Amino acid sequence: MRLRNVKGSREEIARNEYVVKEAENIRGNWKDYLGNDHQIHIEIGMGKGQFLMEMAGKYPEINFIGIEKYSSVLVRALEKMVEKPLDNVHFIRMDAEYVPMIFEKGEVGRIYLNFSDPWPKDRHVKRRLTSRQFLERYDRILQEKGEIIFKTDNRDLFEFSLKEAEEAGWCLDLCTFDLHHSEYLAGNVMTEYEEKFVKKGNPICKMVIHK
Ligand code: SAM
Repeated sequence: MRLRNVKGSREEIARNEYVVKEAENIRGNWKDYLGNDHQIHIEIGMGKGQFLMEMAGKYPEINFIGIEKYSSVLVRALEKMVEKPLDNVHFIRMDAEYVPMIFEKGEVGRIYLNFSDPWPKDRHVKRRLTSRQFLERYDRILQEKGEIIFKTDNRDLFEFSLKEAEEAGWCLDLCTFDLHHSEYLAGNVMTEYEEKFVKKGNPICKMVIHK
């Protein structure tokens, strides 16, 4: 994703009601913070939030929390929320490596990873959001049988992710190398990147895993 510094994005994030501030203070108390005991599903690297917001509209009984590293990207999602506010959507601006500081074990029911950056160089393996280091962080926040759902058009990253999951002891519940021509397409919600890649004719890979 090409990042452009968006003027005023930090200030907007600091004052926006949908952005959770000092989220580390909520750890263990998300139900109180959200005012309900609905499940929490998070999307890590949610970009401009298209997927998260469509899911939130479709499943009002789920709390959706989008995590995004860059203010200049997150601010685009906030602009969409002004057009169509959703009670069950919140955002956190942070690097995904800190998720265990934000959620306690069992607080998250599902993690979505959509079109995560591939980090193709060997020396950057640990930065891939499906590396064993990240899988271990996710295990520290997911409830029992909580799932990770990962989509990408990057075959190398997908194969790497399958291997990492297997070696780290995760169970594979679903795997397809061509989601859009598979039996698993029903109910699929497209992300911004997915729309772009599907238009180009790239096959989309999807996997679902649990520990
Ligand atoms: N999920 C969106 C989609 O499918 O349209 C955006 C995909 S984009 C390729 C990857 C996004 O992940 C970017 O917005 C990037 O800033 C974010 N990201 C990358 N590494 C991250 C990290 N360690 N923590 C949080 N967000 C991250």
